[in-house]
Amino acid sequence: MGDCLFCRIVAKEIPATVVAEDDELLAFKDINPQAPIHLLIIPKRHIANTAASEAGDEALLGRLLRFGCRAAGEAGVAESGFRLVLNNGPDSGEAVPHLHLHVLGGRRLAWPPG
Ligand code: 5GP
Ligand code: ZN
Repeated sequence: MGDCLFCRIVAKEIPATVVAEDDELLAFKDINPQAPIHLLIIPKRHIANTAASEAGDEALLGRLLRFGCRAAGEAGVAESGFRLVLNNGPDSGEAVPHLHLHVLGGRRLAWPPG
């Protein structure tokens, strides 16, 4: 996946502000934040999006959600609240085809989303 932007961030070929990491997951700041806290959590292994996940990925997807909650806590928004977003496909606005969990917080977020 040499031309995948987020695979290149995993490979440290493109810089990112990494806030947390383990053997399977990487958390870094979104380059164009939509809220005071806007992190992206990605699996280090290339999966195009949640809909492209396969049987056997359940544990990884569960870990992704828990990692996002922990990152939100470390960013100081556990009590004020935060939103976890997984975009899938054109109508969602998905722009980078490497699975990423948005963690948004630090302001009151509108609902329904635009
Ligand atoms: P999507 O719309 O695909 O769900 O979200 C992609 C996100 O990736 C956007 O919020 C966008 O700002 C972020 N993004 C795109 N390119 C880069 C980059 O090179 N570095 C970082 N840190 N974030 C990026
Ligand atoms: Zn990738």
